Amino acid sequence: MIWNNEFETLPREALEALQLKRLKNVLERVYETVPFYKKRFDEAGADPYAVRTLDDLTNFPFTYKTDLRDNYPCGLFTVPQDQVVRLHASSGTTGKPTVVGYTQRDVETWSEVMARSLTGAGLGKHDVLQVAFGYGLFTGGLGAHYGGEKIGASVIPASGGNSKRQIMLLKDLNVTGICCTPSYALNLMDIAAELGEDIRDFPIKVGVFGAEPWTDEMRRTVEEGWGIDAIDIYGLSEIIGPGVSCECLEAKRGMHINEDHFLVEVIDPVTGRVLPKGEVGELVFTTITKEAMPLIRYRTRDLSRLITQPCKCGRTFHRMEKVMGRSDDMLIIRGVNVFPSQIESVLVSRKGVLPHYMLIVDRIGTLDTLEVHVEVEGDFFFDEVRKLQELEKTLEKDIKDIIGVTAKIKLVEPKSIARFEGKAQRVIDKRK
Ligand SMILES: [Zn+2]
Repeated sequence: MIWNNEFETLPREALEALQLKRLKNVLERVYETVPFYKKRFDEAGADPYAVRTLDDLTNFPFTYKTDLRDNYPCGLFTVPQDQVVRLHASSGTTGKPTVVGYTQRDVETWSEVMARSLTGAGLGKHDVLQVAFGYGLFTGGLGAHYGGEKIGASVIPASGGNSKRQIMLLKDLNVTGICCTPSYALNLMDIAAELGEDIRDFPIKVGVFGAEPWTDEMRRTVEEGWGIDAIDIYGLSEIIGPGVSCECLEAKRGMHINEDHFLVEVIDPVTGRVLPKGEVGELVFTTITKEAMPLIRYRTRDLSRLITQPCKCGRTFHRMEKVMGRSDDMLIIRGVNVFPSQIESVLVSRKGVLPHYMLIVDRIGTLDTLEVHVEVEGDFFFDEVRKLQELEKTLEKDIKDIIGVTAKIKLVEPKSIARFEGKAQRVIDKRK
């Protein structure tokens, strides 16, 4: 299903003409209204009035998360405060958070891209949507909420946490769709089982999961455990919040980027060079319709690749592959680059292994060590010790063969690893 046939199926040529018009507009606007951009563009010799093609964007400098912090709180806004109707802020792990603002039209755009996402996931006005993303400064909850209302679904603003009540709402209100993090979906599966409920018997048919990287193996676990289709959605508050891109139910492979609002580039994270379409690199977004706080060539740190082949759903927007990880999350273990999501893929592909794990990285002398604690099914854990040891050896060999890193596996009993109501924390790096 397609929400907006005018834009989502626009022929590429017409789309690119629209993008160029909007790009020129935004480049001129930020240059004229934000001293930060004027200085940066001048230093780089980038002339916003000389843009002729979309490729000319590569002449412009990148914007980084640190630029948002350096201009805290509202130094990158292009409109006066009386036009700002909403402020959100990202959780600052160190120091100040980053603040983002929206005009009324920005909130409209956000609702629109979320309406497209939810429609693409197969939801509509006959559906009941439980939003279990957190509501608050985090953009997940409100973004999904507005999109759900726009498509006419009955929206339940459950927010995160209070898991037993989540299960009750899912069942009693005949919920047909849920939005939350994939790790919370796993958590809810366990809670339902504890309550003696089989979540597969519930009317729910689809989950739209995002806000953290997850693998296709995890998708299968969630789909089987819930008896639903699991759809991946992507976004970040700096760009708009959730809804930057989302998978379609027809293909369930790659998230269609709302390219009439966001330009995407994939670059080499070290050299900054734009990579040929299809290569893995860091996603860089330029917002071409945002009013309050447009961003030019924003470095997301998220690693993915573009899929430019046509999709069977009919949308002409290019797709981005599931995010493999953030370049910030990348662990370097004895010189090997390792993403937690790679370990997850290996673990979950073995029978009896549950998708609850924790990576513990340490350094003994000058040598990095990686220990992986992972839960196994109860029957398995309380089975013979020999079988457990065999599985540990098998997983250690899998990780060595597939990822190229030496890990020590420790199988633990079910429910011994921490559960999450929002984004999962899967790494303890004791080297820091
Ligand atoms: Zn599609």
